[in-house]
Amino acid sequence: VSAPVPQVGALRAAVLSVGSELLLGDLTDTNATWVSARLRERGVSVVHHLAVRDVVVELVDALRFLAERVDLIVVGGGLGPTSDDLTRDALAAVTGAELELREDMEEEIRLRLAAVGRPLTRTNRRQAFAPVGARVHPPVGTAPSLAVDLTVDGTVGGGARSVRVIALPGVPWELHALWDTFVVPQLIELGATGVTRTTVVHVIGRGESDVAASVEPLLDAHPEVTLSFLAKKHEIQVRLTGSGRDDADARARTLPALADVLAELGADVVGVDQDDLETTVVRLLTGRGQRVATAESATAGAIAARLGAVPGASAVLLGGLVAYDVSAKVSLAGIDADDLVRAGTVSAATTEALARAARTRTGADWGIGVTAVAGPSPVDDLPVGTAFWALAGPDGGCEVHERMITGDRATVVTRLGSAALDLLRRRLAG
Ligand code: ATP
Ligand code: MG
Repeated sequence: VSAPVPQVGALRAAVLSVGSELLLGDLTDTNATWVSARLRERGVSVVHHLAVRDVVVELVDALRFLAERVDLIVVGGGLGPTSDDLTRDALAAVTGAELELREDMEEEIRLRLAAVGRPLTRTNRRQAFAPVGARVHPPVGTAPSLAVDLTVDGTVGGGARSVRVIALPGVPWELHALWDTFVVPQLIELGATGVTRTTVVHVIGRGESDVAASVEPLLDAHPEVTLSFLAKKHEIQVRLTGSGRDDADARARTLPALADVLAELGADVVGVDQDDLETTVVRLLTGRGQRVATAESATAGAIAARLGAVPGASAVLLGGLVAYDVSAKVSLAGIDADDLVRAGTVSAATTEALARAARTRTGADWGIGVTAVAGPSPVDDLPVGTAFWALAGPDGGCEVHERMITGDRATVVTRLGSAALDLLRRRLAG
């Protein structure tokens, strides 16, 4: 179970990423992933991802290869001002059009540079050139975007076919910022009118097969919705995909299935779409007017950092201690050294003491404590993956949990942090 099967006749697209860094292994092509997701939302089938170096003949070759196979090519990168930014030249070569100076774009670039106190140089001026007849979009950074139509000789049946090439800057935020204004209107013009929308349900506390076994039968009653599952490090995602005239329509068509899934999974549902674990915890704490602090050994502050990344965290995150070494558990958290030795640094008693210290040392309503053997080597006689998390609450009580967590060091840290945050979430929600 995954993406909806593309309909016959649906628009076929390719993503072409330009930049030698991509082929040297220095840069991951996140633009291709992002663009593919946006195209899929519009019912466009992405059939190729291609990356090329900053070499004009290779860029031209790639455009020709893709033009034979798709109706739309989204190019990312190579629109910069330097001599290794060759997308403009390649578009001119494949369309057979000359490059001309677009004075309107030159003016846009000049204004943008003036705003940061820089003059328009000969190098910057390169970005104001476009193949004759190209559609241009003013820059959001400094590079204007371009769109041209290529004509491809029909192979079977004879008739010539037109292929739209849309060239965007490679800088991810610029590419994102141009999507709605420059790309979406062209998609509609090319006939991609419907919208496909995926609703993500975040689930913690059950395995993937368990979630699938309870959710799959529910979807029999909702044939208009496609179901898929994604196992992340710290959660299972149930993804419900529906189509409609526009975003609101697609969302409305997904709602009945979503309601059934939420009812079935109950308290194991952390949130929907942008409401992930951290966001939900911050929202629940805000609603109660309560605050949390952490005392972290194995996660070394990662739990506090995850909360701190949520907008609005300042209302609910009081602070935290990174009590990593034994000596810091004594000096920062005030744990008795003899108690520590007796209980062990990774133990229920030490974890409880950390959670209580987080609370009492800061005056927070809730205190989170964690200890674990994150690996790669065992600690004392404890195997890698031994993990404890504790939550001290406003009633003065403290709950401690223990579990073996499988995975490498980073996975243990992520899963342990999620277990602790999920414990707080369940207490706040229920
Ligand atoms: P621009 O027209 O915006 O200058 P460009 O291709 O000239 O585009 P580059 O200088 O190649 O831009 O890239 C700028 C930065 O954008 C890179 O350092 C990289 O961080 C990011 N970037 C470029 N292409 C991609 C990509 N395909 N995926 C993710 N990041 C990318
Ligand atoms: Mg580049």
